[in-house]
Amino acid sequence: MMIKQKMDISSLVAPHILKLRPYSSARSEFKGTAKVFLDANENPLRTPYNRYPDPLQLKLKNIIASNKGCLDSQVFLGNGSDEAIDLIVRIFCKPYEDAIITMPPTYGMYSVSAAINAVENIQIPLNSDFQPDVDAVLSVQNNQTKVLFICSPNNPTGNDIELDKIIRLVEGFSGIVVVDEAYIDFSEQSSMLSLLEKYPNLIVLQTFSKAWGLAAIRLGMAFASEEIIAWFNKVKPPYNVNTLTQEYALNVLSNKNTLKQDVSKILKERQELEKQLNTLPFILKVYSSATNFILIRTQSPDLIYEYLVSEGIIVRNRNKVLLCAGCLRITVGTKEENDLLISKLKGFKK
Ligand SMILES: *Cc1c(COP(=O)(O)O)cnc(C)c1O
Repeated sequence: MMIKQKMDISSLVAPHILKLRPYSSARSEFKGTAKVFLDANENPLRTPYNRYPDPLQLKLKNIIASNKGCLDSQVFLGNGSDEAIDLIVRIFCKPYEDAIITMPPTYGMYSVSAAINAVENIQIPLNSDFQPDVDAVLSVQNNQTKVLFICSPNNPTGNDIELDKIIRLVEGFSGIVVVDEAYIDFSEQSSMLSLLEKYPNLIVLQTFSKAWGLAAIRLGMAFASEEIIAWFNKVKPPYNVNTLTQEYALNVLSNKNTLKQDVSKILKERQELEKQLNTLPFILKVYSSATNFILIRTQSPDLIYEYLVSEGIIVRNRNKVLLCAGCLRITVGTKEENDLLISKLKGFKK
């Protein structure tokens, strides 16, 4: 086993980023309190949204860090976790030279971010149980494979990646390992957050877009060592999280019960939806889920998809995705929405 404490993170950072002298915004050069701000060319006649936001979102990070049991300096906040995914590729990968590793079928943004940044994506498929082939992943790594993306629970398959497999990957991979926990609040498996101190190459992603019900405000989180977060802060756009989003999130976080209540309602609906889907003869398999969606396999995914569209119900067609032939991904809705889906599906004739 590798001794991760000895890992040199800066040796993984792309050379042009290592040399970067970051933009220093008006609001980040001055620290302290002042009465008069004449430093950022803002319009003084319109308060309060005339002012640039806090570039480091310190209030919000403080609350999030204390909820998660880490340091404020171990938190990055972004314009969705999609921003964090893009920053990770940009910080660690040298264009036209380095690569990321992904394990399809998985979330599409890893490969899109790689493509946008001229970074190769080496794909090592999950096995038929949608679990990683740890040895295959570790055996393709080389000096160019800078980042490995693990999505747990995985989208679009809905299962947890087994913890011991995640840990073998984090321990055996010599680059950065990202564990995308967008759906962790729905899962019974524990978060990798508690292992941040142990693994300096670990980045954990979470988001306000799913269980928190705040996809519209675009707020994602990355948790990592202080050193990695400092690289995020150098590369990110200076004002990447706007004031309305920061205020809204602070407000929502002050009411601690909403998350738990929503999650338990959605899980109850998921259980009922699974039960109903299992009664439909043309559904070959209802995959078990650790998320707020359910993957199903059918003989005629395209026909069912088009039929549902014609009835005004949109699900996600994953038929063309590796290992997902025949599959549709269905988000758990309200009881009324799920009931409508089931009653329409009962009327499907192929
Ligand atoms: C939805 C989703 C995200 C997106 O997060 P944003 O915070 O909305 O950008 C990230 N990862 C996975 C696996 C997702 O399914």
